[in-house]
Amino acid sequence: MEDFYRKADKLNAVGQLAAGLAHEIRNPLTSLRGFLQIMQSGRVDKGEYYDIMLSEIDRINSIVNEFLLIAKPSQSKFQKNDLVRILHGVVTLLETQAALNNIKIVTEIEDAFPLVECSDMEIKQVFVNILKNAIEAMPGGGIVTICACVKKEMARIRFVDQGVGIGENQFARLGEPFFTTKEKGTGLGLMMCYKIIGDHKGEININSAVQVGTTFEIMLPLSSSVSPEA
Ligand code: ADP
Ligand code: MG
Repeated sequence: MEDFYRKADKLNAVGQLAAGLAHEIRNPLTSLRGFLQIMQSGRVDKGEYYDIMLSEIDRINSIVNEFLLIAKPSQSKFQKNDLVRILHGVVTLLETQAALNNIKIVTEIEDAFPLVECSDMEIKQVFVNILKNAIEAMPGGGIVTICACVKKEMARIRFVDQGVGIGENQFARLGEPFFTTKEKGTGLGLMMCYKIIGDHKGEININSAVQVGTTFEIMLPLSSSVSPEA
């Protein structure tokens, strides 16, 4: 009986996600349809509509991409990986976007940082999302500090930004699918982070003060009985 309820619960969660996804995709589709109709009427200069239509298509694409990452059961391989190498790769990836926004990324990494049992692809996704959020939270520029060290037999990676912070009423909604405060956000990034870090038997802790900044802390077991879900 208990098992039945658990399954029903899961189904319900999937149904809610599907409804959210449908809603998020229907908006840009509706506007695409509207633009096509206007263009079909032949009474407008088509040029100005192309950009909007392209960005609506890009939006659908990014929603579907992020959603697939969440929906797909983890079939990734857990291996001993060098988190420092992954971190540097992610910093390189986002450095240009940061610089364009007057943001400097500083890394403070403990010497002889141990290898961590994880899926490198998934952990990279998590780091990209959190660093991107940090950058997007600092429209006026500033510094993002990434600290990595070992604490309580776990790898601790902190992303400290000087951004807008997270208000109390938003805090509880972090990680909820489609919760975003950004005009072009998908609200799927943190949900994906929670799923991946959960699969790794790790933790995400968040500390934030409005207009001061936010710290995202990822804790990962150094090595353990972690294995991909069957
Ligand atoms: P998205 O980035 O598409 O909005 P996320 O799931 O990555 O979706 O984040 C959800 C929301 O959490 C963001 O819209 C923002 O309001 C808040 N958030 C996440 N990271 C930060 C941060 N570093 N500083 C301030 N707000 C943040
Ligand atoms: Mg995000």
